[in-house]
Amino acid sequence: MDEMNQFKEKVLNEYPRLGLQDSFHFSCHIGVPCFTQCCADVTIFLTPYDILRLKQRLGITSQEFLEQHTLSPFTKDQRLPVIVLRMGEDEHKRCPFVSENGCRVYEDRPWACRMYPLGLASPRESDGSDDSGEFYFLMRDPDCQGWDAGRQYTVAEWLDEQEVILYNRMGESFQQITLHDFFQKGNSLSPEQIEMFYLVCYNIDKFRVFVFESTFLKRFDVDAQIVERIRSDDMALLEFGMQWLRFCLFSEQTMTIREEVVQDVRRAAGMDRMK
Ligand code: SF4
Ligand code: SF4
Repeated sequence: MDEMNQFKEKVLNEYPRLGLQDSFHFSCHIGVPCFTQCCADVTIFLTPYDILRLKQRLGITSQEFLEQHTLSPFTKDQRLPVIVLRMGEDEHKRCPFVSENGCRVYEDRPWACRMYPLGLASPRESDGSDDSGEFYFLMRDPDCQGWDAGRQYTVAEWLDEQEVILYNRMGESFQQITLHDFFQKGNSLSPEQIEMFYLVCYNIDKFRVFVFESTFLKRFDVDAQIVERIRSDDMALLEFGMQWLRFCLFSEQTMTIREEVVQDVRRAAGMDRMK
């Protein structure tokens, strides 16, 4: 069992489970002796919304962000690509966004950084529904000195204050894709479909080029107002991309093929039969 699964087993079997109204004391501020020590040598998985916020914050394209700040580790039982924040190459492997005054991208920091000291676990693969068995737990990192000081938070207050709720809402469509029944039934994607997943979820600017500079809009009937929105609005484009992924990965009827394209296909099929 790898390190990640060992930790998950430990959480499921040994950690106290917290609900939204359970409370804890925590205080992290520039005066704690461990300030910013946790922003080093840590594995931070990035969601599509994390990448979108960070690349906007840094004023760079998604392609530049991926190249400069991320890694895409691969394990043999992995069915979809994941992205992690690349730590620095100094001896402490510090996060590229940490400074002596704290996080330089604080308002746009990733979901995982917002959650700490809370963790989220589930006995089975969660689809985010109420009966998924998900629970919160406290990650009592022994080097962290923010414990049992400062104000008391309920779990719900912490999630709200750290804007985790907004990030969760923005991640719902992504979660519905990654936890889709298609995978639960043991199916896997083709390399072309995996490439499309990567493009939509992680390289939003390149996905925009795909939509506007290929025959995409000639093949699919997309409402004119949506076309205008996704031209410049990254979040709208990401939501649109999730609909597109449901169509091209799982054959769901989330996109409408233009009638003339359907006719062309039928004509070509008829001609084939006549040959
Ligand atoms: S993004 Fe900010 S909060 Fe998260 S590890 Fe880096 S410096 Fe720390
Ligand atoms: S180790 Fe804990 S208290 Fe110290 S900076 Fe990190 S979160 Fe804050």
